Amino acid sequence: MQDAPASELLPESKNPNPAWWRHWWRRQTPTRQDRFAMLAPLAAVMLFLAAIISAFWYLRLEEMDREQEAVKRDVEYAQQRVRLRLLERQEQLMRIARDISNKEVDADEFVVRAESMLAQYPELQVLTWIDERRRIKASYSAPSMMGGLLRVPGEVLRPGETESMYGLARDLQQPVYSQPVAGTEGTGLLQLHVPLADQSRFGGVILGEYSIDGLLRYAVPAEISAKYAVALLDGKNRMLAGNTVPPRNPATQLLPWAAQPNEYEVPVSPVGNGLILRAQAYRTSLGVIGSGLFWLVIALAAMTAWMLIANWRHTRRRVQAQQALVAETNFRRAMENSMLTGMRALDMHGRITYVNAAFCQMTGWSEAELVGRTPPFPYWPEQDREMLAARLDDELHGRTIPGGFQVRVKRKDGSLFDARLYVSPLVDAKGHQTGWMTSMTDITEPNRIREQLQASHERFTTVLEALDASVSVAPLGSEELLFANKLYRLWFGGQAGGHLQMVAQAGVAEAPRTTDEAMDEVDSFVGLPTGQLTTAISENAEIFVPELGKWLEVRSRYLNWVDGRLAQMVIATDITARRHAEEQSAAQAERAQSASRLITMGEMASSVAHELNQPLTAITNYCNGLVSRIKSRQISDEDMLAALDKTSRQAQRAGQIIQRIRSFVKRSEPNRTLSDINVMVAEALELAEIELRRRNVRLSHYVAARLPKLMVDPILIEQVLVNLLRNAAEAIEHARRPAGRRSVELRVIPRQIDVQAVVEFSVLDSGQGLAPEVMERLYEAFFSTKVEGMGIGLNLCRTIVESHHGRMQAENIYNGAEVAGCRFSFWIPVSGATNPIVAKDVGKDTGVTTA
Ligand code: ADP
Repeated sequence: MQDAPASELLPESKNPNPAWWRHWWRRQTPTRQDRFAMLAPLAAVMLFLAAIISAFWYLRLEEMDREQEAVKRDVEYAQQRVRLRLLERQEQLMRIARDISNKEVDADEFVVRAESMLAQYPELQVLTWIDERRRIKASYSAPSMMGGLLRVPGEVLRPGETESMYGLARDLQQPVYSQPVAGTEGTGLLQLHVPLADQSRFGGVILGEYSIDGLLRYAVPAEISAKYAVALLDGKNRMLAGNTVPPRNPATQLLPWAAQPNEYEVPVSPVGNGLILRAQAYRTSLGVIGSGLFWLVIALAAMTAWMLIANWRHTRRRVQAQQALVAETNFRRAMENSMLTGMRALDMHGRITYVNAAFCQMTGWSEAELVGRTPPFPYWPEQDREMLAARLDDELHGRTIPGGFQVRVKRKDGSLFDARLYVSPLVDAKGHQTGWMTSMTDITEPNRIREQLQASHERFTTVLEALDASVSVAPLGSEELLFANKLYRLWFGGQAGGHLQMVAQAGVAEAPRTTDEAMDEVDSFVGLPTGQLTTAISENAEIFVPELGKWLEVRSRYLNWVDGRLAQMVIATDITARRHAEEQSAAQAERAQSASRLITMGEMASSVAHELNQPLTAITNYCNGLVSRIKSRQISDEDMLAALDKTSRQAQRAGQIIQRIRSFVKRSEPNRTLSDINVMVAEALELAEIELRRRNVRLSHYVAARLPKLMVDPILIEQVLVNLLRNAAEAIEHARRPAGRRSVELRVIPRQIDVQAVVEFSVLDSGQGLAPEVMERLYEAFFSTKVEGMGIGLNLCRTIVESHHGRMQAENIYNGAEVAGCRFSFWIPVSGATNPIVAKDVGKDTGVTTA
């Protein structure tokens, strides 16, 4: 394209040194080449125009010269003719003058001669004979002359008129022409004074008067006056006769040859400078034609130049468009080469017309191997050929699938891969469809990832679905259910109602509401890092859902849902069975506690019997003494009353013992109340003392002042204390301690364990202590070292303590290396003891429990 103007501009045949030119041309930048290609024709047009103008100029100058020459020649010729005519007339007049001088002609003869002369030479108007005294002797005027000019014979010439000429003729004795005088309407006259000699003496003049107009008309040849505007001018360039060319049109004045009007003037001798003959060339049609041609050439050249410029601009636009196109093509090619999508173009008959680099790379076949191929294509797997042929047929008939379709493609090495094809029509610049463009994407990797994702999703779903906990996720402040697993759907259906109910019932968080208050709470999360919120807020609660008839342990936490919303996940585990078991074990424990108390009483039966024996013996003794004294009538009323009083007190005491035992062993519902530690300790001591006294064991106790009340079941705590005191007494008994070392101490003091305020109960004995193997199995049920021991006492004690959130421990007391006894202690927290049967906070201590 860029070389084209060059070859047009510089055809090789006309180029003297093509190699040099070409070398020079190639060195130029494309822009400069374009500029040259544009400027050269323009310069050529300008040169052509200049040549035309100079040719016109030259020709015109030539012509003007020629014309000037012709005018000059013609004017000279006309002047000759005028001169000749004037000289002839002068000759004739001189001849008449000579004849008059010789007295051969008198006045009459003069008139006759004048008449004949005037008739013959019409330019002569008047012939007058004037004597030496300026008197007119004879005169003849042409009939056309006006009366005023007639010279009357006998008259003297008017002074001034022709006086100087007359004088000059007289002095010079020569014919003298007057300065022509302009008259009106061609009445201008030229006078010729021819002197008369009368015997060498001046004898007057013959005055011949020419009409200047007539002179022009008759003296100038007709062919000259036809060709030119001929005029006679006086010495001051005033026109005397003839005509002149009107001044030229100012427009044509611009033309170079119009600058000088083609004219020529020459003085007419013998008159001299007083009479000038001038001829002006008429304007010829050549000027019109010439200027027309000239303007045409100018217009054509301008048009050519304009067209060249327009053409250059057009070319420049085209070059720009071409550059843009090239850039676009390069861009697209780069894009096409860099992309991983294979591209294949088919013509309308299914022949491959194009494949890109990616397509070749994917299939392993080269472009040369693919372009021009018709179906079946080499990358079709043999087993899919029919299907692919049908697909291609669909493709060629425009039955394309909008989302593309998936096929298997065979590589050159025989391996297969999955690909997705998208088909779109190929349309040329004229809007005609020329084929189909197919893009191919290798989807093996996406497929594998999808399958992996699918598998992982399936695993995840299977796990979630198989989970025997219901999992549901709902956004805050909305009734939409984002996720629910199988168990949730089984329990609550597909609605968010169950989720919201669980949230509300558990009091885990505010159930989503649309009130401002709820929004305020949601707002209060704003500003908190969501991560913190989602990890921090995880609460557990146990709730009973009447619709399901189930106990559920509900745990919830906030999480960022996949769409970025803050959502609440609720995991509910069916803990009905556990609750039942717990309830059952609680009932069993309760039964065991009562049984244990009965056992304790059974074991203490001899002690109790002994204890009861005392008041009963006393009552019997009092009664016997009373009976004998009443029989002997030795008793006063006061003594009797005193004795009865004592008897009654003993009976009361016995009743008290029985009452205490009854209340201890009576099976009662677990009942936690705020209980006074002093009361509990007093009652436990009262029961234990019966046993301790029987075993000769001293019992001392210390209860710290101002202890808080404890939220406990007092009977159970008394049972623990009685058990521990009894074990202590038995250990002392078993160790056979001497009387001085038979003591048990009960201490109740406030303590601080792990920032928790507790009340510690401890029982110290001076028994044999705990052997290591006993220490290990201390709280095992039915473990006992005693012959009649049941081995459930300590086990029960620990259960009771722990059900009150307390802990129990045992340790030996040493006296040097010797074991001096042991110490059983337990503590009960001052506050925070709540009913374990009602919702309890298990999360903090025991961690997450799942079914
Ligand atoms: P039992 O008293 O019926 O044997 P316990 O559960 O009360 O059942 O006691 C279990 C065992 O713990 C006892 O058999 C005894 O060996 C040991 N034991 C309990 N208290 C003491 C104590 N104060 N000193 C020494 N050993 C003790």
